[in-house]
Amino acid sequence: MNLYVQNQQWNVSKLDQYISRGDIIQKIIGVPLPITAISDSYCWGLSASGKFTTKSATWLAHDHSIIEDPNWCFRWIWQIDTIPKIKVFLWQMCLNVLPVRGTLFRRLGQFDPQCPLCLNEVETIDHLFEGCSTSNIVWSLAIKHRWIPQQVLRDRSFNGHQTFGIWEKLDSRTMQRLSFLLWSIWKARNAVIFQNEVFNPLKCLIKAKRLSTEWSIRTCMSVDDFFQGTSSTPFKTHQFIRWQPPNPFWIKLNFDGSLQNTSTVGGFILRDWRGASLMTGASNYGASSILVAEGRTLRDGVHAAIMVGYSRLQIEGDNLIVIEALQGKAAIPWRINYIIEDVRNLLIQVDQVVIKHIYREANMAADWLSKYGHSISNAMLATDLCHPELRNIVRDDMLGRTLARRGA
Ligand SMILES: [Zn+2]
Repeated sequence: MNLYVQNQQWNVSKLDQYISRGDIIQKIIGVPLPITAISDSYCWGLSASGKFTTKSATWLAHDHSIIEDPNWCFRWIWQIDTIPKIKVFLWQMCLNVLPVRGTLFRRLGQFDPQCPLCLNEVETIDHLFEGCSTSNIVWSLAIKHRWIPQQVLRDRSFNGHQTFGIWEKLDSRTMQRLSFLLWSIWKARNAVIFQNEVFNPLKCLIKAKRLSTEWSIRTCMSVDDFFQGTSSTPFKTHQFIRWQPPNPFWIKLNFDGSLQNTSTVGGFILRDWRGASLMTGASNYGASSILVAEGRTLRDGVHAAIMVGYSRLQIEGDNLIVIEALQGKAAIPWRINYIIEDVRNLLIQVDQVVIKHIYREANMAADWLSKYGHSISNAMLATDLCHPELRNIVRDDMLGRTLARRGA
């Protein structure tokens, strides 16, 4: 193993010597190595936390490989920009395994198969999301509010392979909204059954809208991304975002990861309290996930700051999962578990540290570096701003350039 790892880095030339396939080497480089003393441990790779869950074991028992098979016909579900649990819900819907009463009746025979919303027909997936006169009011309202295009109502079919394929032709924003609408109907239907609530179509739509807005803000969609769709919902408020210099005599670290095809890259920048750049870095992390790239570039940035001897560090990134993991506010996904542990070990050497989540608009320099990293094969560390584009971004940040983002 020591042959392949040198100075806590993969020895690429050694790997090149023994492995002929470049894609395998990229995958190996994509495996992050701890830089502080962390002992090996086992984890369950099918859940985000690395802890065993019966749900993920059930997936495995039902041939988990279909999730990762690129030819799998529902792969588009995993590309919808929506909450992960909603993706699972859509997936269950496609596979016709959502526990609607009709299915439970057929399988177990002990449930009343009647639709809890209209009380008229057997509750199947088709019925609940398509044929039900009560849930149809939600669809009509969504179209009346111009929240989803009319065409959706015509093409919609939520069960089975070929019909769901129609979804793939929709723009990403409509797909996202549909995911929230279906989820909201499902949740409201559950509330009718389990909490004896009355089904309120308008409330159901409003909940879908609210979830969608919250998700868009949470996942840092830029204003431009948001308007790529075809629908014409006007936005109500703007939120103005800009990069803020750190407090006097503090150093600010901004970091960001990026993914192109299967290749991951991270970039970071250290700036002083006047906004002047002190150091920039970009690294190619091979074939990995965006989460790992974000974690690794955070670690590289912290490491660089400590090597130079900065003792008051403000850390900012636009990946909420990584930031909350570092803050200890959320469970650490197993994929970045020891990277975060490394970062915490490194931060012991810093006198003061502040960790903050920011939107992408306030992370432009790191964003640029992470994109730039795709043009280099290994890693770069620089104390001067080599590229005019980056120089402009840093100057604009110093001048307080403000970008608008869609508000709630
Ligand atoms: Zn019904």
